[in-house]
Amino acid sequence: MKIEAKSLVALLWEFDTEQKCIDHFTEVRWPDGVQCLRCDSSRVYKRSDGQFRCGDCRYTFSVRKGTVFDLNPTGFLF
Ligand SMILES: [Zn+2]
Repeated sequence: MKIEAKSLVALLWEFDTEQKCIDHFTEVRWPDGVQCLRCDSSRVYKRSDGQFRCGDCRYTFSVRKGTVFDLNPTGFLF
């Protein structure tokens, strides 16, 4: 998917569920697989609530952590 060809707003309108957003941003942020934000381990597991948990340092984080979306408490959707 080419993001740069679309405005962010147009892109967001395509995501009708929070889960689709999470999946997409996970792919964009970690194209080679999710890595722990604290220890860079690739032994990261996805939890049922959509958050990630590091198998090494047990750090729990979301794909939004440290991004602009981290500031929006309502999630990705408006
Ligand atoms: Zn870790």
